[in-house]
Amino acid sequence: MTNTLDLPAFAWPQMEPGWVWLCGAGPGDPGLLTLHAANALRQADVVIYDALVQEAILDWAPQAEHVYAGKRGGKPSAKQRDISLQLVDLARAGKKVLRLKGGDPFVFGRGGEEAQTLIQHDVPVRIIPGISAGIGGLAYAGIPVTHRDVNQSVTFVTGHDQSGNTPGSLDWDSISKGSQVLVIYMGMKHIAQIATKLLDAERGSDEPVAVVTSATTSDQQVLETTLGKMVDDIAKSGLEPPAIICVGKSVLMRQVLDWQGMALGEKPRNLDPLGRGRPAETA
Ligand code: SAH
Repeated sequence: MTNTLDLPAFAWPQMEPGWVWLCGAGPGDPGLLTLHAANALRQADVVIYDALVQEAILDWAPQAEHVYAGKRGGKPSAKQRDISLQLVDLARAGKKVLRLKGGDPFVFGRGGEEAQTLIQHDVPVRIIPGISAGIGGLAYAGIPVTHRDVNQSVTFVTGHDQSGNTPGSLDWDSISKGSQVLVIYMGMKHIAQIATKLLDAERGSDEPVAVVTSATTSDQQVLETTLGKMVDDIAKSGLEPPAIICVGKSVLMRQVLDWQGMALGEKPRNLDPLGRGRPAETA
């Protein structure tokens, strides 16, 4: 497949000069772009993209100027203001502006703030959702974010607040009790504190944990560990962000669903990792 792939017949929206389209790029693999994202990439005059957007995706917009607006590791919000105002300036200059963000723009990505600034400055916007790393990244690791035998809820948590600290405003006790599966974004920096808080909130030290780094890219790595061991295991592994950390029994499903390993010839480790004792298709 190439970037000349024709989009199927559909009333594809046209980018108009002076508009900003705020678009999710998915977790990494360019195949996880939406068709609306592809349509936007073809039309944009300028693409402003984040650190987490794979550069290969920019090949879909050869006609556009590519502007990097990376911001890794909780830098102060002044920079965010600069990015938002740069979008306003470009729109006012009559450009077709594509603001491309990793994953989904409205999931821990400050997309809400950027869109609000644009609208406050009378710039028209379109929002294009994307596949968030906490769902799609786990799926690439063979971990279903919900499973009927494991969880009826899932909680997405960020390991940083605006100042780069563990979110003091989070009630870890309630989160731990309220949700069988936790999906933690931006958790690596404060992993030790997060582990302590979860253990204090009586999540079991033997509870399964998976750490998926650079999910859906060719650098993807997956560490399977437990809540009690994860801090040491992460340190030993040398794994680096970006990482999604999943806490809960759904991690066990990787023993049967590691489809990438199986594509390389590995056998499933355990066909019934949740110990249902009956075929999965039986209700
Ligand atoms: N809007 C994004 C999240 C941005 S916050 C989304 O919906 O996915 C940045 C955090 O997202 C990272 O610190 C990491 O926790 C997670 N993340 C994004 N892309 C990732 C990837 N390819 N692999 C693992 N984690 C990723």
